[in-house]
Amino acid sequence: MTGTISMADVEAAARTLRGRADSTPLVPSLFPGADLWLKLEICQPIGAFKLRGALNAVAATDAPAVTCCSTGNHGRGVAWAARAAGKRAVICMSALVPQAKVDGIRALGAEVRITGRSQDDAQAEVERLVAEEGLAEISPFDDPLVIAGQATVGAEMMAQKPDLRTILVPLSGGGLAAGVALAAKAADPAVRVIGVTMDRGAAMHDSLRAGQPVAVEEVPSLADSLGGGIGMRNRLSFPMCRDLLDDVVLVSEGEIYAAMQALFHRDGLVAEGGSVVGLAALMAGKVVAEGPVGTILTGRNVDMAQFTRVVTGQDVQLGDVTVTGVPYAA
Ligand SMILES: *Cc1c(COP(=O)(O)O)cnc(C)c1O
Repeated sequence: MTGTISMADVEAAARTLRGRADSTPLVPSLFPGADLWLKLEICQPIGAFKLRGALNAVAATDAPAVTCCSTGNHGRGVAWAARAAGKRAVICMSALVPQAKVDGIRALGAEVRITGRSQDDAQAEVERLVAEEGLAEISPFDDPLVIAGQATVGAEMMAQKPDLRTILVPLSGGGLAAGVALAAKAADPAVRVIGVTMDRGAAMHDSLRAGQPVAVEEVPSLADSLGGGIGMRNRLSFPMCRDLLDDVVLVSEGEIYAAMQALFHRDGLVAEGGSVVGLAALMAGKVVAEGPVGTILTGRNVDMAQFTRVVTGQDVQLGDVTVTGVPYAA
């Protein structure tokens, strides 16, 4: 177990978030194949769990201006938290970030910088702003305050349904998975926590297999929120995921497509591709579910044109990859 973040930090984060970004519902899914429970982080005011870590980290800085790189939702969380705290925010993103997410961040009053084609390019601009202009960086996942904020999701799930046997966590930089695993296992050491991500550009999966952070090629995905590397100098989320996750499972674009459709038509919920990877893994039989299973619907900030194509069964073009359309069948 890592000594860097304790449950005292998670409890302190929960106090900071109280009444602002906590207590999202945990509801039963109509999924027929398992006793599945959905943690509705899509109900957060910014439409994603990232508000938790962002509020906790922004509350701890006295800097008048903050910056971060983001695949969209972290930037939205930092923009929201900075506006609430009366601070300036500069959000750095790559050209792969969907326009809907860029617009959402601007609507919160933050400045947006689009640089390059990858999270690494966006991160280089963040480092320049920190070094040359003195902005405080809020890391999307490799920061103890951010991880403690995301960990409150796991603490709430175990308080809401203490008999959960397995939790499936959408995984990118690993801040959410690290925090949820820490908090859930503190409540019940027997609970299994499994990270799930897309099979193209799976940075944490490849890094865990290599035993150290590795770079991945960033490609367009239905799970755009899960893109990007884990940082070659990762300090916290990598060792925590290594020590705390029971497994990491990969899903294909077609499996993500089917899960977005099923969640919409069956459960009546709008969720991003990056949100539904846990459901996708269950539907594909890649996770064996014994007893109650929880998964986190991490965000609802879809590109509506693409989402409409998915739920109506049309083809979706992702760079040079075509996901072949399949009509929803109950
Ligand atoms: C950021 C994000 C994730 C992954 O969180 P990490 O802490 O980077 O692993 C999952 N889903 C959505 C919608 C996100 O925005």
